Parts: sequence; structure tokens; C-alpha cells
Amino acid sequence: MHTAMQLGSITLMGADAPPGRGKPFGGFDISLDDSGRSRGEASLCRAERRRQNNDAARPNLLVTPVWHVHRQVWRQLDGQRSRPTGIEEKAMQNDVLELLAIRRGHFLLESGHHAELWLDLELLYRRPRRVESLCFELARRLASLSIDAVCGPLIEGAFVGLTVASELDLEYSYAERFVRASSDGLFPAGYRIPEALRESVRGKRVAIVNDVINAGSAVRGTYVDLQQCGAIVVAIGTLLVLGTSADEFAAHENLALETLARQPNTLWTPGQCPLCAAGMALVDPAEFGAGLRST
Ligand SMILES: [Zn+2]
Repeated sequence: MHTAMQLGSITLMGADAPPGRGKPFGGFDISLDDSGRSRGEASLCRAERRRQNNDAARPNLLVTPVWHVHRQVWRQLDGQRSRPTGIEEKAMQNDVLELLAIRRGHFLLESGHHAELWLDLELLYRRPRRVESLCFELARRLASLSIDAVCGPLIEGAFVGLTVASELDLEYSYAERFVRASSDGLFPAGYRIPEALRESVRGKRVAIVNDVINAGSAVRGTYVDLQQCGAIVVAIGTLLVLGTSADEFAAHENLALETLARQPNTLWTPGQCPLCAAGMALVDPAEFGAGLRST
């Protein structure tokens, strides 16, 4: 390290080339001062120190990758504001919607409702790095809530939850979907935390982190099972909220709700669906109907 420049609480440090390299190459490392930060925000910085220590242990990895530094500087500067500005919120929403290609039609949801929007979430983690930056922002928003652990409903929601938990350096668990009997055909899916993980969430302040919340069956099922495990659920975090069900559930259960994007959507019970009434064929992309018929 030859030079150092202070930028607020960030120290930018110039770096030599690794031993054995003929010519120097660009790069810099940073250090963060997290004094005076809240517990959750300090978790971010603890995770960062651990990463830096790990990097230091590798003999040939003297320079932090540029993308990583960009993220660090962006995060640190952004963290000095309580909320992104309107323009940034719009950019964040566009990023999410671009990543989640929305289809329009007449679809059967996991909850049993019918809806006009559908997202092929299997594609979400095809490019993990693109989702990662959104998960970091979600982690930053959840950091101030003093959570101890993150729980994500399988499948893609658990990927988002895992990335957020890793970023906050918190404990992580997931919930598995199962089909249960239902008298009215709505919310037929239940979610259960595996036996080996159930005791680990007892008494913990937990955030349920998901990919997209529409009718909210995954979040509701995970919430119910976390409570049965003795966890204290305090927040829901998600990349996208469709419609109003997530807000209604969060308000009813007194949970904080953090989302990076919102999109209007209308849900109908099968008996009230105008698309059914108009004779439009119901599409079941995830084959939820097979589960409904088995109940
Ligand atoms: Zn319908």
C-alpha cells in the first residue's frame, strides 16, 4: 500500500502489484469506520471486515476486485441517507422489473387465486450477480431492524434470503412447501422449517425474505411455522410486491415490510374471476392445479 485517501468514513488505499508481476495494475482497497452505527448496520461492517481478513489471508489477492469496491463505496455513501431519493427508487424499481420479466394473461397462483400477472421466477437466479446487488440493497434496508436471523421460503425466495443473510452475517433458515387440505381451495400450500433448523430460530428476531409477494402464501405459511418454532417475526423483505396482499398482511401482523419495487395486480377467487367469466383459458405455469386437485 503506497497511498491513502480519506473519503468521509471510507479510506481509499492504493495498492502495489502482487509479488512476481512485472507491471503494476490499478486497484485499491478500502476500510470502513462503523463506529456509532446501529447493530444491524454494524453487522454489514463485520461481514466486510471478515471478507477483508479472508482476502488478506490469500497470498495473491492483494487487490479487492473493482466491482466489490464500487459496491462498497456505493453502499457506504448511500447508507448515509435514510432513504433513496425518488429517482433512485424509480431506478431500483426498474432494475427489479427488468430482472423479473412479467407476463400478462390469466394465471393460477399458488394461493389458489387467479391473477392477470405471472413471473417466471425460475429465471431469477440465472445471472446471480444481477440479483446480488438488489439483495445487498434489501439487506441494507433490513439492517436497522435489529434482526438476528433470516428465513426464506423455498425455492427462489430462499435464494434471496440466503444472499441477504450472508450479507448481514446472520443465521439463516428456510421453509419447505407442502400441500395441505383447504376447504375453499385458497392458500392450499403450507410451509415448514426442517426439523434440524426449528430450534435454532426459537426466541430470535427473524425477517422473512422472499423474491416476489403476490397473494403471499409463501410468506404467510413461513410466518405461521416460524411462530410455531417460537421465533419472533419482525419483518418481511422482498424484491417485489404485487398488489396489496403483502401490505395488508404486514399491517395485520404488525410487521415491517421492505420492498424494492411495487406493481399493481388484481387477484380473484376462482368464483369471482372476471377472466373465467369471460371464458379466458386459465394458465397454470407451475402446475399448482395438480396440488389443488390432490387435496
Ligand atoms: Zn379465473
